[in-house]
Amino acid sequence: MANAEVLLQFLKQNGNIWCDDCLSDKTGITPRQQINQLGCRLAKTRKLFRNRGRCTGCGKTKITNSLNPEVSEANQIKQEMMIEPKSSDVGGVRPWYWEGNIQAVLASYLAKNEFRMMSIANTALRESGKDIEAITPEGKTLWISVKGWPEKSQNTQARHWFSQGIFNIILYRDESKDVELALAFPDGFPTYHNLTKRIKWFQELAKFKIFWISKEGLIRTE
Ligand SMILES: [Zn+2]
Repeated sequence: MANAEVLLQFLKQNGNIWCDDCLSDKTGITPRQQINQLGCRLAKTRKLFRNRGRCTGCGKTKITNSLNPEVSEANQIKQEMMIEPKSSDVGGVRPWYWEGNIQAVLASYLAKNEFRMMSIANTALRESGKDIEAITPEGKTLWISVKGWPEKSQNTQARHWFSQGIFNIILYRDESKDVELALAFPDGFPTYHNLTKRIKWFQELAKFKIFWISKEGLIRTE
């Protein structure tokens, strides 16, 4: 069971959504098939989930492994979100603008740009806490609240998610005057672009960045 422990430990320390190939590279567990077998075994006992998603390491959309922090909590959220953690490889393909994909693309972009990743919340499980915590190349702490684009009642829901993001910024700024803060949204949705234009004054006041993540995985900041 030693390798399984190594695998779980890695996910605990490096956040979620990692493909088998990257996990094999990072943990040194070879061959890659062993990760696949371990992952499936751990998924059966509900220690982790195997779903399609965008890998934090390589950024490709494939079957990825995510830690299951607590089975009971997962059951509750399963109903709420209609995700199916039990069915290992049949999880539906999530659109590029799904929050988990936006988070994973941004996390791998930051990691490639010399940010040190401290934690990545499992958004599929609605894990509480900051969506991304990182240390900037200059050594400053960065907290990011990530929002996707909704698949249902899009404009109403989007306004709601946008407000949640802004409220996170308010609370984070209260928690610390010195940390760097950011929001992240999928690029190209007019609702988000219009709303950010209207809160420019607040962005200057609270000092936070906005990351826009495009369908192609390109990232620009504002
Ligand atoms: Zn990968």
